[in-house]
Amino acid sequence: MVVATPIGNLQDMTPRALEALAQADVIAAEDTRHSATLTRHFGISTPMLSLHEHNETRVGEQLLARIRDGEWVALISDAGTPLISDPGFSLVRAAREAGCLVTVFPGACAAVAALSVSGLPSDRFCFEGFLPARGPARRGRLAELAEQTATLIFYESSHRIEACLRDMVAVLGADRPAAVLRELTKLHEQGRMDRLAALQTWLEEDANRRRGEFVVVVGGVTAPTEPERYELSLDALLDELLGQLPLKSAVASVMRLTGASRNDVYSRALARRSDD
Ligand code: SAM
Repeated sequence: MVVATPIGNLQDMTPRALEALAQADVIAAEDTRHSATLTRHFGISTPMLSLHEHNETRVGEQLLARIRDGEWVALISDAGTPLISDPGFSLVRAAREAGCLVTVFPGACAAVAALSVSGLPSDRFCFEGFLPARGPARRGRLAELAEQTATLIFYESSHRIEACLRDMVAVLGADRPAAVLRELTKLHEQGRMDRLAALQTWLEEDANRRRGEFVVVVGGVTAPTEPERYELSLDALLDELLGQLPLKSAVASVMRLTGASRNDVYSRALARRSDD
C-alpha cells in the first residue's frame, strides 16, 4: 500500500490513509523518528521499519517476502506522496513484477499542489524534481529543458533557491513567466507569480522569503503568435537582403515579397542599419 501523508498540515491526512496505516502489519517509513510524530498524533501503533535510499534494495527484499506471505505493508515517506522525489520505486517495481497487489491511498503532493495554485498552464506539465546541486550541472539541465513547451515543476531547498532562480534567469530568460510557492499548507505559506527576473529580485529583497520548502513552477516555451511570426520572418528577410543590396532596394524587395507597408519596412531597415 502506497500511502500519502501531509506536506505540512496534519489536517490533510485522509481518513482512508489513516485506516490503511492502522490496519497494516508494518509501516515502511523513510525516517521512523520523523513519521512517529505523525502516527503518535493519530494514535496509530503499527510497528515501523526504516526504508530509505541507502537500504532500499535489502529492506525492499525483506518487505517483498512479507507481502508474499500475505502481510500488509504500508509505504510512507517523510511528507507527501512516496516515490515522488522520495524512496519506494524499487519496492513498488519489485512488488508489481512479483504479481503482488499494489494499491494507493492518495493525498498531498507538493508538485501538484503548487501547480494548482501557480497560475501557470496546468494542461501539460513536466515534473523535474530537484535540479543538480552544482552550478554547471544545474545550468546544463536547465539548458536541456529550455525548449520544453509544457510547464516545468521543480523542487528546491531554502539554501539553493537563490542560486536556482539566478540560473533560471540566465538559461531560460528573464521574461519567462514562473511562480515560487513556499511552505504550502503551512503557517507561512506564500506564493508569487511573475517573470523569472522579478521573482529573483523579490527573493533577494527579504531573507524570510528564502526560508522553508519551495516548489518553482516555470511556464513552458510558447509557440510564436501570428504577429510574432510575421515580425520574425520580416526581420529575417530584411537581414538577408540588407547583406546583399543597398537599403532602398532591400526595402523595395521586402515590400514586394511580403506586402508590408513602406513605413514599417523602412523603419525596421533603418533600425537594423543603426545596430550594425
Ligand atoms: N514526496 C514529496 C511530495 O509528494 O511532494 C516530496 C518530497 S521531496 C524530498 C521534498 C521537497 O518537496 C522539498 O524540498 C520541497 O521542494 C517540496 N515540498 C515538500 N513540502 C512542501 C511544502 N509544504 N511547500 C513547498 N514545497 C514543498
